Amino acid sequence: MQDEGPILATLALRDNALLPGVEERACRVPVLGLAGRPPPAACVAEFLAGPDRYAAVSREDGRLVFHFDIQRTITALLHEEFCAPSPPLVARLPVGYHLLPGRLRKGLGRALYAWHRLRRRRAPVPWPAWPIDRTLEVLLGLLRAAGRTCPDVITELPLAPGRRYVVCLTHDVDSRAGYERIERFLDLERKYGVTATYNIPGARYEVDRRRLSALVEAGFEIGLHGHDHSGRLAFLGEEEIGARIREGLQRFDGLDVCGFRSPMLLRSAPLFRALEGAVLYDSSVPDSGTFAGGAPFDGCASVFPFRRGKLLEIPVTMPSDADLQLCGWRADRIGALWMRKLDWIAAQGGVAVLVTHPEPQFGGDPRMLACYEQVLRRVAGDPGAQVMTGKALARAVLGREPA
Ligand SMILES: [Zn+2]
Repeated sequence: MQDEGPILATLALRDNALLPGVEERACRVPVLGLAGRPPPAACVAEFLAGPDRYAAVSREDGRLVFHFDIQRTITALLHEEFCAPSPPLVARLPVGYHLLPGRLRKGLGRALYAWHRLRRRRAPVPWPAWPIDRTLEVLLGLLRAAGRTCPDVITELPLAPGRRYVVCLTHDVDSRAGYERIERFLDLERKYGVTATYNIPGARYEVDRRRLSALVEAGFEIGLHGHDHSGRLAFLGEEEIGARIREGLQRFDGLDVCGFRSPMLLRSAPLFRALEGAVLYDSSVPDSGTFAGGAPFDGCASVFPFRRGKLLEIPVTMPSDADLQLCGWRADRIGALWMRKLDWIAAQGGVAVLVTHPEPQFGGDPRMLACYEQVLRRVAGDPGAQVMTGKALARAVLGREPA
């Protein structure tokens, strides 16, 4: 068995007492640094790769011994080292997709999603699991059982007494049509006494600064949602990306913007480098991808924030309205999925990051607004839920430890 490069194996727990509270007995893991020896008698977890079995963890002299590089494997998961990012079609069109007529744009979107879903089904190693991937839960549980921690993953959230998990409500206001509908979302949020983040492109449509200022004063957050929302930003050179980010931040100067969401969650190493130092946090990586990237490995598998250099990464952990609608899902099915995922994230003590789009064809549709209200009702009525903006979460996490 090779030592370099990931191998997708099934990690099977052989000792039921090893991870109390973790229901999963097996999960798929792209594993790094797998040693080649067969499982010893004291093996408490092993890897199954095709017909082969390998030791994963054994108990020797009363302590747990790892036979793979667990820290390195976790880091590789978080940073999506298993992805092979390439600019998607939307970023390679001769004109920005947003300049296409509405019906053509929607038809193209649906066709692209169908193509991505097919690619994913045919991928030799479909991972992470969707919509819930338990890989990191199991790996962090193994580290904990060994008395070790992973300092990059923020599992100790800044929670008020009695709270168990965080909910970040976010809206990607892609277009003017969406911007004109944000009041419908704000009305619901005020009704349930919660605040949310409105992510706005740096250079796509005019905004009313006084209106946004009043929102920020009332505890809402304005985040930067790329530049012109063409999908190209992540695939420019680092300097060019940096210049566009600075331009957007300047435009929203005075609105305390410190968070970034990439349009369509398109991301790249140059984008993350350009964001470092420009903003406090990024929220452009799904825990488990919704086919938008089209890659079989799409997502960081984490429902916890984690450090990316000086940035805090706050993963998008709830599948977005637009992604699901473009896959042909109806509102009632989307609402049921959101509730299921929310339950799981609550049980993990993680961060539920919900993305909705106020555009009339997505979250702004009355049936989808009813779905959103269902989430707000559930969260507002749950004494364990702590609703906070990404800005508040990032400041609390980055402020308590040296960067
Ligand atoms: Zn967007």
